[in-house]
Amino acid sequence: MLTRRTLRECRALVAGLPMPRPFSVPELVEALARQRGRPIHVRALPTGADVCGVWIRLPADDVIYVEEKTSRLHRDHIVLHEIGHLLRDHPGPGGAHPLARVLPDLSPELIERLLTRTAYTTDEEQEAELIASLIRTAARAQRSWTSGVLGEFETALGLRGSWQ
Ligand SMILES: [Zn+2]
Repeated sequence: MLTRRTLRECRALVAGLPMPRPFSVPELVEALARQRGRPIHVRALPTGADVCGVWIRLPADDVIYVEEKTSRLHRDHIVLHEIGHLLRDHPGPGGAHPLARVLPDLSPELIERLLTRTAYTTDEEQEAELIASLIRTAARAQRSWTSGVLGEFETALGLRGSWQ
């Protein structure tokens, strides 16, 4: 179960994200990498991997593997979910995970964290899912602000970007 404290922490993490305008997941990934000073690589999952998304933390960068054979919307959601793990720095089995052996160009010894998307049974999965949906909500709010009179008003007052 997610606690109120977890919800608060996840909200704060999402509020601190460098949201690109207009919003797109690839640009968010780039902006987040710049903010963290660590590259984030999004790569296609090799065939045969029995998951749809993986986040891997390496010493100097992060890698998100995402299932390619699905809709763009679903891919975007998987990436946001993995960003949720990354922001919360969820621990994982690291290079001991069987998947570490099938991922190309990665030495299992270098893998500090490895999280795969599984059924939403654990707190970590729920947190990642919560962050993904909070980011989508923020992106939607941004869109309606951008198109609305309120957005222009806020821009005029220099308030844009201060929403939560
Ligand atoms: Zn997950």
